[in-house]
This record gives sequence, structure tokens and C-alpha cells, in this order.
Amino acid sequence: MKKYLRLILEVLLGICLVATATLAYLNYSAKKHMAAEVAELTEQLDEAKESLEKSHDDAPAADDHAAEASNTSSQELDALKAAFTNGVVLQDVETLYKAQKALSAERQVGLASLRLLTKGAQDESTIAAFQKALEMAEWSNRLQTVCAAQNALAAAGQKVTVLSDCKKSAEKEAPADTAKNDHGKKDDKAHDVHWGYEGDNGPEHWGDNFPTCGKGKKQSPLNIVGPFEKSKDTLTVDYKEGPLKMLNNGHTIQVNVEPGSTLTIGKETFDLLQFHFHRPSEEQVEGKNAAMVAHFVHKSKEGKLAVIGVLLNEGKDNAAIKTLWANLPPKELEEYLPAKVMFNPATMLPKELGFYNYEGSLTTPPCTEGVQFYILKAPMEVSKGQLGKFPFKLNARPVQGLNGRKINAGG
Ligand SMILES: [Zn+2]
Repeated sequence: MKKYLRLILEVLLGICLVATATLAYLNYSAKKHMAAEVAELTEQLDEAKESLEKSHDDAPAADDHAAEASNTSSQELDALKAAFTNGVVLQDVETLYKAQKALSAERQVGLASLRLLTKGAQDESTIAAFQKALEMAEWSNRLQTVCAAQNALAAAGQKVTVLSDCKKSAEKEAPADTAKNDHGKKDDKAHDVHWGYEGDNGPEHWGDNFPTCGKGKKQSPLNIVGPFEKSKDTLTVDYKEGPLKMLNNGHTIQVNVEPGSTLTIGKETFDLLQFHFHRPSEEQVEGKNAAMVAHFVHKSKEGKLAVIGVLLNEGKDNAAIKTLWANLPPKELEEYLPAKVMFNPATMLPKELGFYNYEGSLTTPPCTEGVQFYILKAPMEVSKGQLGKFPFKLNARPVQGLNGRKINAGG
């Protein structure tokens, strides 16, 4: 338990910081009650920190654990912060939770925090919900609070490492009616949100836990076939070199990108957040998959998402992929920063930026819609040997129905 203490503290501190920032904004509309709650929380946090430092002095042997935990916690904090600023996450948590009859106080706090942090103070009912949730919360139990946030994010399909203690509390929380299913066997679908590409966790079952995946009418990927409408969009890519940061998130290899690399579509600028790979390509062109696809995920200040897809056909060695594969993360779910390796995402792109464009969705749960896809017409190459080194044999969602959408061609 001791080795988790710092981790828990830091995650909680993160939540407090965001909450405090929001509350500072709320304060001038006289939300003193909430400000007091947070002041109290911060005090408790300081106390806990002190006691942590004491216990730390008492047990020098715990040093290694603490350093390890501290490293993981900064990644978790990043994940939490990213999720908190992303309105689409909130939407899906809300959908998921609507299906459940009774929500524990902790989950309500998690949901209300997300609501407040993503919708901000414009919405009176959001503030009311957050206040209600604060009143119901048992702040004496810090672990539950952290668990609430972690479970909420995990349920939203975010790759959050949920503490093992939180997993236990989630099991206890399983509603009685789902526990009866399956001939007395424990049915943990309600809170176990594992998904994959084959069998019971495969794409045809994603809709069970993530409604948009099953019911959405603007889903990705698509089979790209004409006739096309002419697109007026222009793509301007300005990617910068930065330190290489790799992540095996259990579903793909993802390269996280430092701020500063941008995509401009017309007058709207998007930041490149990360790129990742699917094998084979998720998109088809005239019914055919490429050997792989790289998806470059961008987000605008307003939270809009735009993805550039680079199809990779089997052929020659790809120099950029050579660098990436030489630095594959040794462990799952931990961001890996090989020392002194610099990488420019632009080296993954073809010279010509002609594209097929359509409106679609995330191709992984929660399959949130409203994502603009720009699949580049010019493919790149990847060698057979390089394909073999990619740790995922199959991580591509099948093509989805067009449902009246138009595919545009441009560039
Ligand atoms: Zn993708």
C-alpha cells in the first residue's frame, strides 16, 4: 500500500489543481461553499504529504518503489489532464453511466468533475451537479476518490492504469442485477471495459459497452470508393522534430508528440497529439486494405479532431519506421523515452498531400463521432520484415456503413 501512497497523492493533487483552477473562475460568482471544500481538500493533501515524507524517512528501502511510482504517476496525470480537457470523453462517460441505474457517490463525483472541467462554468446545472456530488462524496476516503476518477476514465475508453485496489472496489460496486447473469458466473462486463479485435472482445461486441460503436451512423473506417465530391480544404502540415516518445497502449504502438507540430486546414489550426499504427490498414481503397496505416491524430483549440491517414503498402524498408521499431517500448502502458533519439513525424508523410476526406469517428472505443478524416492518396511503403516486427498481428476495425455520407477528394 505504501508504494501507492505517492501515486495516489499525485493523482489527487492533479484533480485538486484542476478543480482549484475551475473554482477560482467560479469564485467571483460567489461559490464560496465549493472554494471552502477545495481549501479543505488541499489542506488534507498537505497533511498526507507530510505523513508520506515521514514514512519515507522511516523506510529508506521504499525509495525505489517511490521513484517508480512517481514516474508512472506523472504519466497518469498527463492522461487524466488530457481526458479532462476532452469534451468527447465526457459525452461517452455520460452515455455509459446513463445505462446504470444507481451510481455510487464516487462515480458521481468523477462524472460531475468531468462535466465541470469540460463544460466549465457556463452551465448552471453542471455547477449544481458538482456541488451535489461534492456533498455526497466521502472525502475521508482518498482512495475511493482516485478510483472514481480512474474508473470513470477507463470506462470512457481512456488507457488509464487503474490501481489494483480500485479494481477491487469496482467489483464490489457491480449492480446486483448484472451479477445474476450467466448462470451464476460472475458477469464483469458492466465495469470491465476490455476490448480487442478478436472473439468476445472483438469489434462486433464493442457496442455492448460503448453504444456509439454499435449505433453510430458516422463511423470509421470506410471503404473509399467514388464518385467523389470536390473538397475545397487545403492541408498545411508543419511538423517539428522532437524527442521520441513511444507507447504500447495494449492496442497499438503510439508515438506521442511534443506540442508545436501543427496541421492547418483552411484557417483552422490543429495540434498533432500522437500518431499510431493499424495492421492491416483500417481504410480500404476500392475494397482493398493496405498492409498498414499510420493515423496522425490532431486536435484544435475547440476540441475538434482531425486525423491524417497514411497508407503503407508492402515494399521497401521505411526509414522512419526503422527508427521507430528500433525503439519499441519494452513494457506495455508505460511511455518510453529512448535516450537522445529525435524524430520528425514529417518523415512519415508522402510529398503529395492529395486526400480523400470524410466525417467519421474514432476507430476504437468509445467510437466518438465528429472526427474529420483525411486519407492521403499517395501511399508510403513498409517492408515485409518491418511488418513482422510490429507487435500487433491484427488491430484494425472493419469498414463501417457509409449511411449517406459523401466522400470528398482534394489537394
Ligand atoms: Zn487509428
